[in-house]
Amino acid sequence: MDFTLSTKLKTFKNTVRRIVEVECIPMEEHFLSNWKNTSRNVELDITSEIDKFSTKLISHLKTVSQDAGIFHLHLPKKYGGGGMGTLGAVVINEEIHRSLVHLPLAQCANILIKHATTRQEQQYTVPTIKGQKSAALYQAAAGADFHLNNPTKLTAVRYEDNWIINGVIPYMANINSADYIIIQAISDKTKHKETGLTLFILDTNSQGLKIDPIETWLTTPQNPQYCVSLNNVRVPIWKTLGKEGNGFYLGQHLLSEHENLMSGAISLGIMERGLAMATKRSLNRVTFGRPIAERQAIQWMLVDIFVNIKALRSITHSAAWKNDNGHDINIESSMIKYCAAEWGWRSIDKIMQIFGGLGERIDTPIPHWYHQLRHSRISNGTSEMHQTILARSLLSKTLEWEEN
Ligand SMILES: Cc1cc2nc3c(=O)[nH]c(=O)nc-3n(C[C@H](O)[C@H](O)[C@H](O)COP(=O)(O)OP(=O)(O)OC[C@H]3O[C@@H](n4cnc5c(N)ncnc54)[C@H](O)[C@@H]3O)c2cc1C
Repeated sequence: MDFTLSTKLKTFKNTVRRIVEVECIPMEEHFLSNWKNTSRNVELDITSEIDKFSTKLISHLKTVSQDAGIFHLHLPKKYGGGGMGTLGAVVINEEIHRSLVHLPLAQCANILIKHATTRQEQQYTVPTIKGQKSAALYQAAAGADFHLNNPTKLTAVRYEDNWIINGVIPYMANINSADYIIIQAISDKTKHKETGLTLFILDTNSQGLKIDPIETWLTTPQNPQYCVSLNNVRVPIWKTLGKEGNGFYLGQHLLSEHENLMSGAISLGIMERGLAMATKRSLNRVTFGRPIAERQAIQWMLVDIFVNIKALRSITHSAAWKNDNGHDINIESSMIKYCAAEWGWRSIDKIMQIFGGLGERIDTPIPHWYHQLRHSRISNGTSEMHQTILARSLLSKTLEWEEN
């Protein structure tokens, strides 16, 4: 297998790198210096001058992304995208996540592209791809002990031409700016989880939807967090995404073919820039008459991060290539999510250590990356859940661990 990036993809990678260096990284200073104001209030107060400025910056970045042809790059050509596939999406996301301020990409469109009906396509897929609508995603089956009788999970009951949805979504990122949410809810309690869940497209202005901000250490101006309650929310039947009862299967596919690989890309972006920063810092910081870079303790930390980057990039690019070429990457994708979270978190811990006290200052990206990568061990399936999937395959000998 040849994982050399095509000339076209290399050109896009360089373009994104340049935009991230010129546009996004300089904006970090603005967000970091106003962190206190924005994160304390959880929700951006758009009446304040600072937040008006933040909103302006984010919308400027969207225009930059669209003008450079980055916004749709990962989407199929049919939708005006670059047709660069999963490998393209991984490479571009790796570059974007070098900065704490992210260059926007068309969101959540993958699952719609694959499964939307013609009507859904016109009302949701196309406007999302054009950047006129944005989406958030909720997977009811994300918790470790998911079962259909769990009273805390969302339930959908059919009534005439609607589904009536009730329940609570305990954590939901970015719903403040989303026009709709793709939700996974229990549609038939009498079945197994493989057939008892369905996906729905739910407009965020629906009656009965209550959105309350919550404060987690992950709350950032670009990533606010919410708890969402649904009280008899009506969703017309035509907004069922995919077939009724197919929600678990579609959700798992989204995780394995997209979200898990993007976790790899995100960790890589953060680790790469973090390593560059830590290397520079270690050459400049002098203690006891010598730069700390001359101490083995520091060198070993730098090398561990470097080795983790190389290994993670190799398995992530390989799985993305396989996905683009029709191979099943279900188990491999769990391995990538697990390694992205564990190696990413350990690496950022070392980066913080190399920076000493400076690494804890909230006006640098380091503690924010630390929170993000620590969260990655919990979100989209905890590390233990991915280890369980891998162990199950290993013990049943379906996991290939010897190279042919
Ligand atoms: C800030 C934040 C934002 C989020 N945003 C979203 C979102 O936008 N969309 C969304 O769908 N979800 C979101 N989530 C939910 C997230 O995906 C879940 O929290 C995650 O999947 C873990 O589920 P849980 O919290 O129920 O943990 P639990 O299932 O309660 O697990 C608790 C601990 O027990 C361990 N454990 C459980 N069972 C076993 C076992 N059998 N063997 C070994 N260890 C075990 C777990 O690994 C974990 O360490 C968000 C969560 C947070 C905190």
